Order: sequence, then structure tokens, then C-alpha cells
Amino acid sequence: MKAYFSPRQAAHRPERSFYNGAFIPPQETAARTERLTAALIDAGADVLAPDDHGLAPILAVHDADYVAWLREAHRRWREAGFAHDVMPNVFPHDRASVSRDLIEKGKVNAQAGLYLGDLSCPVAEGTYEAAYWSAQAAVSAAAAVLEGKGHAFALSRPPGHHAYRDRANGFCYFNNAAIAAETLLKGFKRVAVIDFDMHHGDGTQSIFVERPEVFFGSVHADPAGCYPYFSGFAHERGKGAGLDTTLNIALEAGANDAAFAAANTVLANALCAFGAEALVLSAGWDAHGCDPLSPFKVTDDGFRAIGGLFAAMNLPTVIVQEGGYNLDSIGTSLAAFFSGFERER
Ligand SMILES: [Zn+2]
Repeated sequence: MKAYFSPRQAAHRPERSFYNGAFIPPQETAARTERLTAALIDAGADVLAPDDHGLAPILAVHDADYVAWLREAHRRWREAGFAHDVMPNVFPHDRASVSRDLIEKGKVNAQAGLYLGDLSCPVAEGTYEAAYWSAQAAVSAAAAVLEGKGHAFALSRPPGHHAYRDRANGFCYFNNAAIAAETLLKGFKRVAVIDFDMHHGDGTQSIFVERPEVFFGSVHADPAGCYPYFSGFAHERGKGAGLDTTLNIALEAGANDAAFAAANTVLANALCAFGAEALVLSAGWDAHGCDPLSPFKVTDDGFRAIGGLFAAMNLPTVIVQEGGYNLDSIGTSLAAFFSGFERER
């Protein structure tokens, strides 16, 4: 299997994050990719540097003003005399009413409230570079699948599924899975994105919510008690032409391997009914019972089972790395998933 990762993705090194009323050390660190790379090599994957596909695949998903702002934000922040990383202290009450004037000529700290959706996506000196190469890993994996490679893995970091078209959110800057899906649409008419990260993929859902040619299914912890809180409920089924191409399954705290597999089976059946020609998996390992963020009790056996489940779909598949924050379990979870996946293939 081909896997894609650039050492430049380590450039994102924020000094801190903000969580439950306190500044905390970042949970989404470059050390994660060291564990995941080791697990990929153990599993026999070829870990390759992504090609540089330029900005076009990113701009196919994200608004140009957001991308341009992210690229310059840290430099402008320092020029404004601010220490630490870029982090907003005010957010627009009505985003849609924000003037073009503020978007084009506003102060960097005002724009931070527009382009950073919460306080877990600070912009550090190397954030744009890392996010750019994280997205290139996803594009390269999608390009390999378009060339007939069957399946490929994008070791994307920072992750992507909370990133919206026009803003960062929840450790995520560019939506790597959405970028992979958009790339696959060059060769396939209908693409499914299935997100089994423990958090709802709110950014991905928002990007494709009105798109009839993209199915989005997510299994996650009940957002009533878990980030991102405001989306991921069962009544969210898509909008307009995309009605009924969104499917959310929220599991209660304590969900085990059987519950996790059952929910993923519902998503797998739905993507078959949708008629997907290609598949993107938003693969997070934070459903694992050992993960510091997890309310679930999923084990490596659960990831092995869903690896087999999605391999049995027999679709061209791009697997995109999302979350997973226990450095001692993310590598074994990834290895278990691929042992199930490769066995079924
Ligand atoms: Zn997550």
C-alpha cells in the first residue's frame, strides 16, 4: 500500500490550546505522526513524500480569502506586535453580515475571529506550511487511487474533518478528506466520505451538505456531550439537492466494539445504497478506550473489524488520517485497521 506523508507537516507546533477554561499543552502534536509512520512501515506500507499539486485542489474546497489569510496570519500577527500564536478573542455574531471591507482590509485580530472557529486551532509560525502538506498528502493518495492503485493512505496531520470551507476549527485547518473526495470526483461520479473518528466530522458535512453526488456518513460520540456540540445529530440529513445524502449516527458513552461495528455497518450499507463509486474514510483512532478524549470502549479488535468491513465494499478507497491522541495506542489501532483491511482485500 502507498502512504503519503511529508516531514514538513511537523512545522505546525502551536504553543498551547484552550480547553474547558484553561490553556493546555497541544494534544495534536507532530509526535503522533512518528508513531503512525512506524506502524505503517511495520505493516509493509511504502511511505512516500506527497507530490506538490499546488493550491488548486485546496481552493476546490476552501474559500480563497480564508486560504490567503491563513498563509499570512502569523506574520501579520507578529507585525501587529502580538506575542504567542494567533488566537481570537472575539467572534462575529452574524458571520454572513461581515463586510467585504473587514475581510479585505480588517485587522488581523478581528479577522482571526472570522477565520478561526474556536480556540483549539491556533495559528503558529509553521501552521500554514504543515496544513498545506497535510492536504498534499491527501491529494497524492487520491491521485494514486485515480491512477488505479486501489487504495492509498494519507497520513494527514494536522487533521482536517472539523475544517469548514471558510474557517479552521478543532485542530483542523484544511479539510483533507473533503479535498481527497473532490479530487476523486474528477474520475468518479459518486463518492462517499465515511467518518469513524470519535468526533462528528462537522466541517466535512457542511462542505458537502447540499451536494447530491457526495454521501457523508459519520459515527461519533453524541454531540450533546462531546465536541463539536452543535452538529452531528440524527435529524441532520442534508439540504436541498443533497437531502438524504448525509447520515449521522451518535453513540452513547461506553460504546464497545460491537456497537461501533454495528454503526459502521449501517454507514457501509448506506454508501452501497447510494451507489458510491469511490470511498474516502476519515480515519480517527480516538474512539479507542485508551484515548484521552474518548468516551467509548472501542479496542484494536473494533478497528480490525471495520477495516475488513470497508475493504469488503471493494471500492477505490482513500484513507485519510484524522484524530487519535494516545501515543501508545494510535499505532496499534492503525495496524489493526490495516490488518483487517488487507485481509479482506
Ligand atoms: Zn476526533
